[in-house]
Amino acid sequence: MKVTVIGSGYVGLVTATCLAEYGNDVLCLDVDVSKIELLNQGGVPIYEPGLEEMIKRNRAASRLRFTSNIAESVAHGTIQFIAVGTPPNEDGSADLQYVVAAANHIGRHMNTYKVIVNKSTVPVGTGDKVRAVIAAQLTLRGLNASFAVVANPEFLKEGAAIDDFMRPDRIVMGCEDETASDLLHALYAPFVRNHDRILLMDIRSAEMTKYAANAMLATRISLMNELANLAEILGADIELVRKGIGADPRIGYHFLYAGVGYGGSCFPKDVQALQRTANENGIQLRVLAAVEHANLAQKSVIIHKIKQRFAGNLAGMHFALWGLAFKPNTDDMRDAPSRVLIEYLLAQGATIAAYDPVAMIEAQRVMPHATGLRYGEGPQAVLKQADALVVMTEWKAFRSPDFAEMKALLSQAIIFDGRNLYEPQYLAKQGFEYYPIGREQIY
Ligand code: NAD
Repeated sequence: MKVTVIGSGYVGLVTATCLAEYGNDVLCLDVDVSKIELLNQGGVPIYEPGLEEMIKRNRAASRLRFTSNIAESVAHGTIQFIAVGTPPNEDGSADLQYVVAAANHIGRHMNTYKVIVNKSTVPVGTGDKVRAVIAAQLTLRGLNASFAVVANPEFLKEGAAIDDFMRPDRIVMGCEDETASDLLHALYAPFVRNHDRILLMDIRSAEMTKYAANAMLATRISLMNELANLAEILGADIELVRKGIGADPRIGYHFLYAGVGYGGSCFPKDVQALQRTANENGIQLRVLAAVEHANLAQKSVIIHKIKQRFAGNLAGMHFALWGLAFKPNTDDMRDAPSRVLIEYLLAQGATIAAYDPVAMIEAQRVMPHATGLRYGEGPQAVLKQADALVVMTEWKAFRSPDFAEMKALLSQAIIFDGRNLYEPQYLAKQGFEYYPIGREQIY
């Protein structure tokens, strides 16, 4: 099938590449010309495991192409995926300017039947808005071309995006047009061969499903974080509590880890946008307000531990930092908890040597003026003469380090662990002071 994907970011690139992998003829559009140039030279603007090789393979087979030419991209696909950003406005609502721009582009250039499939996370009612924008353009042009609008929110996780797309738990499809539904069922058929995982519903329910999913996941994280803070005071171990509750199938083990708060490009903005939608409709989402509040506080939990340990005086101190990205296997720095810590330590007059397996270039891009922050070549390299190590992202490579070597490199054997990677008693035996989240503090 001929498919156009509008937006070549995390969602657009993965969608386009996975569709091409199954033999579709995919053209990917972006208004960011530098991204398209890079992609056309064989580069990849983001890090996602396995993506580079897959893009290479499908470009070589001419099934995947990139363009910044809007007319060409609209002409190409009967199916037009919208996968542009929906960042937060100042009031927390979703900024729909990129979605509206994409709809305008389609309306201005389409001449034949198109299925516009919205993959961006958008507030309920956006499907109607997209339909109205396209219809208005067609009226201006005096054209009577027919089209359908579909809500098809994306559930992929950065770091496992290809696997999630190729083997989805479910494909939520808000579709009220039979021709569009048939086309999309055919397009997705290879992805759901084992089980029919397509959930067909109305557009509004599909749009809401995405926000509801992220709200539920963010709630689990904030609740676990608050329980962890309490466990620490009570002398209980949140890791044991986690196992104890996860064994209940109604709760399950996924997404129960205590840490330094959620970040990334989705949870913070989607939790805010859903509350905003509720407010605009005259109701309060009290639970979500608390989830957001708890998360903001959690991002400072490590800061409090550091302040307490060093009696508040951090000027002239030097910290090693393991992990910058908001989670492992991605270079995404949007709303990463590490940024809150970095900002605080630098403002106090401390210096930082940081290492992240893939996010250092992106960190440099989003924090260009962070004087006092430098980057190292490997986890051990940043430990030299640091007063303490702070772990902010649970990369696999950080899980089994050589503690004896670490002790020799650090000027003080102190670890603040925002991801509970190590066993407190084991670290005690290795001679470390160890400050995890919601577990025994070793000092
Ligand atoms: P992104 O910022 O990585 O990519 C968006 C891309 O769209 C950018 O490259 C931008 O230049 C391009 N763009 C903007 N306006 C355009 C236009 N009019 N025409 C063509 N290209 C345009 O964003 P993302 O992380 O891929 O997220 C996209 C959407 O998917 C958001 O609504 C997000 O909430 C949602 N989502 C993201 C994830 C994720 O893990 N990143 C997961 C599920 C859903």
